[in-house]
This record gives sequence, structure tokens and C-alpha cells, in this order.
Amino acid sequence: MDNSSSPRRVAVLGSSGSIGQSSLEVIAKSKGQLVPLLLSVHRQTDILAQQLRQLSPEHLPRWIAVTDETADRSPLEEFAKNIEIAVGHEALCELVRHRDIDIVLSAIVGSAGLTSTLAALESGKTVALANKESLVMGGKLLTDLAQKHGGRLIPVDSEHSAIMQALCSWRMEFADATVRRSVDDLGIAKIILTASGGPFRTKSQPELENVSVAEALAHPTWKMGKKITIDSATLMNKALEIIETRWFFDVPAEKIDVVIHPQSLIHSMVEFIDGSVIAQMSPPDMRLPIQLALYYPHRVLGIASKIDWTKMQSLELYPPDFDRFPALLLGLEVAASGGTAGAVINAANESAVSAFLAGRLPFLDIVKVCRLVLEHHHFESAPTLEQLLAIDRWARGEVERFVDRR
Ligand code: MG
Repeated sequence: MDNSSSPRRVAVLGSSGSIGQSSLEVIAKSKGQLVPLLLSVHRQTDILAQQLRQLSPEHLPRWIAVTDETADRSPLEEFAKNIEIAVGHEALCELVRHRDIDIVLSAIVGSAGLTSTLAALESGKTVALANKESLVMGGKLLTDLAQKHGGRLIPVDSEHSAIMQALCSWRMEFADATVRRSVDDLGIAKIILTASGGPFRTKSQPELENVSVAEALAHPTWKMGKKITIDSATLMNKALEIIETRWFFDVPAEKIDVVIHPQSLIHSMVEFIDGSVIAQMSPPDMRLPIQLALYYPHRVLGIASKIDWTKMQSLELYPPDFDRFPALLLGLEVAASGGTAGAVINAANESAVSAFLAGRLPFLDIVKVCRLVLEHHHFESAPTLEQLLAIDRWARGEVERFVDRR
């Protein structure tokens, strides 16, 4: 899209979540350059109805989709005259493929986002990917599909947006994972993911044993949904982001590092072979990476908060503690092995987080059970989608059995 061209028509999948809500703010402030054509939710039809009421009548989407067939659709009745309502995952995938959609923001939480992301890539769409789980599960499948059908994967995760920007500042055409260049061509020595360290950064091992759900849900710098907030507390979120980095930028696991950076101002860095490091900085505000992804490859006037340079800023950076946060090692191992490992770790983690939130599993057992399930799985190096979905179900069942045995 150049600045003079027609509006970019956007599908927001997972509209009621934290990323979905921020993306609607970005769209609302775009002065018609971004148009919501399709909004989807799983169950939260009341939030979707509220979002629709806030849109001006000429900007109402053409379609809305509710993926959970049992969800109460009565809050949407008032829109039935003007908007087509689709129900179920299949129906959503069908809409995502429609030729009028230019860009798909994939912000569904967890592995539920996989099929719609695949549908978008199969039809050659640009996908702004916030659903990191789909890349963790099927990284090779997704990047191969994007290449085959001329689609694009643009990161929304702040770390990967930072890496893309660091690479863009070097050579724009290299920033896209679908333009396969070797890391050697790019002169990349290392990709350094920053991590806030989460709410338990300074807690000792014994203290970690007894943390409550409420403590784990209180993130110091980012306001996010429940699943990702727990992932940030275990650092499993960083583990998933290591795997995501491996696929987004086609870098081997041994070139990915993590540093703890509590201020969350540097969102990640790229170190080049000559020792030069390019970092991307901004306050922790997801509207920036969302906006960048939706307008890619253009920069427009920002609506996110900006750093106040008249105030003193301190930047702390230190190495992570792999003993207290063993999830990081898991992330590096899975990024190195590929195949079915990503799907296993992702499914095991989703199940374990649900069990923790329900008070059925202690905090430290989340990562412990993920390792157990990973080590017991039957590894396939080049899985099909069916194999990935089967291993996903298997891993969830294994976690359930572990939780029940306790
Ligand atoms: Mg992130």
C-alpha cells in the first residue's frame, strides 16, 4: 500500500482480546486508510457488539464471525440487518480466504488460531501474526505455505517487530521471513530477545513454589490476556518467542539469546558479525507493533505512547537465570529440534496453564510437565497438519493425566 492507494481491508481475528481491542483503536485512528472488513470472536459476543456500536455506520464490517457454535448470539441481533454473521471455525476460514480481504490480523489465543492462519496463508494473504502459538506449532508448515502461495507473515509480537525493524534499518527486503536469505547473507551474529523477567524476576526458587494465581496474573509492565500473562511469569512466553524467532527469521537456535530487561523499553536487538548491535526502543504499548504490521512496509504517525527524553531513563540488561526459569532451555531445545516438538510444547503448556489457573497445578509444575511430555513424545521431523493436530491432542491428554495423578 502506498499512501495514495485505496484503503487496506483488514480482518481482525480475535477481536475481543487485548490485541484485537488495540488493533481496533489503530483502525479507528487510521482516517479510513484501514477498514475492518471482518471481525471474529470465539464467545464474547457482548464485547463484539460493543465494538460494533463504537464504529461509524460506514465503517461497519461486512462480516462478523463467532467461532464457538454454542455462544449466545443474541447481543449481535441488532446488527443482523447490516452485517452477515458466520458461525464456526470452518465458516471463519471460508471468509478469511475472500479476495476482498487484504490483510489478516491473527490474534486468536492459542492453537485455536492455527486453522484460520493457515487458511489466510493458503490464499496468499498477508498475515499480521499475533498468534505466536500457530508459528510455534507449525513453523515450517506456515512459512512454507507463505512462500508457496506468495503470502506474507508480518510479526505483531513486540520482540519480533523489533527484530524486523532492526533488519529493515539494514536492508528492507531482508526483513520478511518469506524472502529466504541465510543469516550469513544478512551478517547476523545473534538475535537477542529481551524479556521483562515477569512478576517473579527477583523471587527465589522456594518462593516460586508457592506463588498464587493472583500473583502470577500481576505483570509489572504489560497489560495482556490471562494465558500470556502466566506465560510471562514462567518465562514460557519467551520460550515460545525463541521458537517464533527461529521460524520468522529462519535463524538457528544457537544464534538466539535472551537478556532480562525489566523496563521493557528495548524490545529486542540484532547483533551483526562486526559487533554492531541494533536495538528497537519504545514504551511497552502494543499499538505500535500492531500499527506497523497493518501498514507494513510503511511508517505512519504513531498513536502509541512515546519515550519522554526529558526524564532520566535507566536501562538494565542482565543474563537470565536458567535454573529458576527452566522454560528458556526448553524453548532453545525445541527451536533446535523443530518437527513435532513445537506442537507438543505449545499444547502441553496451554493445558498446564489452564490447570494452574483452575488451581489444579502448582506454578513450578507448569514447565515441569511440559518437559516430561516433550521427552515422552514420538518425534516426527516433518509432520503434516494432521500429525500436528494429533500430537497436540495427545500432549493435552498427557498433561491431564499428570494433573489427575497428583
Ligand atoms: Mg512478546
